[in-house]
Amino acid sequence: MTPDALKSLIRTIPDFPKPGIEFRDITTLIGHGEGFAACVAMLAERAQAAGAQAIAGMEARGFIFGAAVAAKLALPFIPVRKPGKLPVPVLAVDYALEYGTDRLEVDPDAVGAGQRVVVVDDLIATGGTALAAVQLLRRAGGEVAQALFVIDLPDLGGAEKLREAGVPVQAVMAFA
Ligand code: AMP
Repeated sequence: MTPDALKSLIRTIPDFPKPGIEFRDITTLIGHGEGFAACVAMLAERAQAAGAQAIAGMEARGFIFGAAVAAKLALPFIPVRKPGKLPVPVLAVDYALEYGTDRLEVDPDAVGAGQRVVVVDDLIATGGTALAAVQLLRRAGGEVAQALFVIDLPDLGGAEKLREAGVPVQAVMAFA
């Protein structure tokens, strides 16, 4: 499947979760078996090319793609979690969303010292979520080798911010 064919599997919902936001919904992509498999294969190929030793994914939609990529490459998966979910002492970072604020947490023992970690999420908008994840993974001792997204919204500048923070960025598709 081509990136264009995959793009046609994304459902766009206007004014969700608030007026003015065009929500790019991956439910229809992951609901298409061939499309989901092709998307995971593209992400896995890029993660492998970046020399990934572990895959990190952000709760919740980053778990869907990140865990699938990790399993495909037989690599460890590092869950970057919403607050209060992990049963151990955590590292935490607060960050701003396109719509609201949130916090991410990681189990520092899930990240190996100097481990080359590839971050995977469904979408990058302002980059707040991904930057928080990068900060957490670096604090935990990891080296963030690459950030991969299914969707980039380049007009919101997140990918650019990540590159400025020293993280190479790739996305399967963009909505400009
Ligand atoms: P950001 O931190 O601004 O880069 O936002 C990225 C996170 O918010 C991703 O994990 C997405 O799941 C979600 N998100 C932000 N904007 C959108 C959008 N327009 N459509 C779908 N999901 C979005």
